Amino acid sequence: MTSVVDAPSTTSTSPARGLICRACGAEYPLAAQHACYECFGPLEVAYDEAALARVTRAQIEAGPQNIWRYAALLPAGQDPATRVTLDPGLTPLVAAPQLAAAVGIEAPLYVKDDSQNPTHSFKDRVVSVALTAAKELGFKRFSCASTGNLANSVAAHAARAGVPSIVFIPSDLEPGKIITTAVYGGELVAIEGSYDDVNRLCSELVETDEFEDTAFVNVNVRPFYAEGSKTLGYEVAEQLGWRIPAQVVIPMASGELLTKVDKAFSELVEIGLAEAPEGGWTVFGAQSEGCNPIAVALHADTDVITPVKPTGIAKSLNIGDPAAGPYAIEAVKRTGGWMDYANDEEIRAGIRLLAETTGIFAETAGGTTVAVLKKLVASGKLDPTKETVVYNTGEGLKTLDAVAGQVGPTHTIKPSLRGAREAGLLG
Ligand SMILES: *Cc1c(COP(=O)(O)O)cnc(C)c1O
Ligand SMILES: [Zn+2]
Repeated sequence: MTSVVDAPSTTSTSPARGLICRACGAEYPLAAQHACYECFGPLEVAYDEAALARVTRAQIEAGPQNIWRYAALLPAGQDPATRVTLDPGLTPLVAAPQLAAAVGIEAPLYVKDDSQNPTHSFKDRVVSVALTAAKELGFKRFSCASTGNLANSVAAHAARAGVPSIVFIPSDLEPGKIITTAVYGGELVAIEGSYDDVNRLCSELVETDEFEDTAFVNVNVRPFYAEGSKTLGYEVAEQLGWRIPAQVVIPMASGELLTKVDKAFSELVEIGLAEAPEGGWTVFGAQSEGCNPIAVALHADTDVITPVKPTGIAKSLNIGDPAAGPYAIEAVKRTGGWMDYANDEEIRAGIRLLAETTGIFAETAGGTTVAVLKKLVASGKLDPTKETVVYNTGEGLKTLDAVAGQVGPTHTIKPSLRGAREAGLLG
């Protein structure tokens, strides 16, 4: 193990000490590498624990009003001048008493509303960290394989940084996701296939000479990308007054976000920045019925994920072969949680329930998470007497089709009192 020697507490060097294989523990230097040379397992960032332990609440609280307040806990961006950022983060943690009543939760319930990020999804966090690392590593072009929100965020960040981008999406994405990506003017490649096909192609492109200078945020710089998700754990703890909530419900595509929120909570407790709840925290995962390979594996009591061909309206979660699935299962089992999934009708109902009880309009991923929250309470898996945070990771305006036709004017009338009377508005 390497250690940083006598770094001052105001150090601007990265607390990351290298990359470590999640499967076999082999260690590598910090670089654009995502798979283990020994066992092909996924790599993640390993930190110098002494460097993390020097971070204080006061230091974070004095930082910027965005994810970079946690820079000392992240693998890139210690120097503000190198950051590739739209300054995402510090999104609202919204108290949701009406939603709690509707689903049968008696304890405080909060919605972490990450639709309030610059490109309206939590992906701005992971992209900002990944592209900052990419810039520090010398990459000249930004890219990704996306289910929609990632493409949107990469294209926007590249535009802000003045760096060319080329992003890859399945051609059947929602118009709201395609337009909000294309408007930034980078190259946008629509592929006639599923996300898993897109991802496979990107894994091949990244090996070519033409793409040598290109950082694919979720391929060759994936370990850095994944760390950005930790900020969704840090923030919730800080917003609760440096306390970790008893229960969290998190949507899963690759499963990475779930594992990193859990990792963030562990780090905060280890370095003494936040208090764990009595009995520890419990992590719950949400998928859609059209793409539920992680939940199905957990239900079958295995951590071997059988890939599926995704269907259904929750397209941002449609990863049929989820890379972090086994690690999401590990986190959920270790913390005593559970996973469940919702069908399209339940997802639509979840979007409307969240909107009607909190004033938050979520995309299909948020509808999925709320629908699963309801199921977890009904099945007794989630304790209704414990403080709970449910994560809304994306914005409803990007997936309007999900509820179009379900909602509309309750009355259409002539512009007169007579019209109002005829509609029953005047008794
Ligand atoms: C990508 C995405 C997720 C899930 O992310 P993973 O880390 O791959 O599990 C959740 N919600 C939305 C809206 C997303 O775009
Ligand atoms: Zn390995």
